[in-house]
Amino acid sequence: MPLLPVVAEQLLRDVRSSYREESRIPDDLLIALRFVFGSCALQALDLVDQRSVTCVTSPSGREVFQVTGGSGRLYTLFTRCQYCPCPAFSFSVLRRGEGLLCKHILAAYLSQAMGVCRQEQVSDQLMTRLLAGQEDAGEHLRSARV
Ligand SMILES: [Zn+2]
Repeated sequence: MPLLPVVAEQLLRDVRSSYREESRIPDDLLIALRFVFGSCALQALDLVDQRSVTCVTSPSGREVFQVTGGSGRLYTLFTRCQYCPCPAFSFSVLRRGEGLLCKHILAAYLSQAMGVCRQEQVSDQLMTRLLAGQEDAGEHLRSARV
């Protein structure tokens, strides 16, 4: 996660170690998450609780995350370049420079840190379509999931 400030990276490492030891996130860490990431911290934790995050990988080693948002919309996001196609990301993060990331990207980081991310392998062909932002490719995956 080279694009995150050091404090945010450290926080995610703390989440990882406490979750491994106690299977929960202690209150002081929750407060810190809230402080660093703002209101999207709790929304992101909700998404993690609902197991909304899937890590999709392909044989060539590419990786994307798919997060089902509260509205039921599926977002395909690229944590390596920290981009999410949701409106909150383009409005708050890109345009107004508020907040580090949206709840979807944070949910992807948190579910990875907590080890609760669903894993899915797809073909390189399907991955290329996902990376090209073809929504039908994402929906195809989601319908296969239920
Ligand atoms: Zn987003």
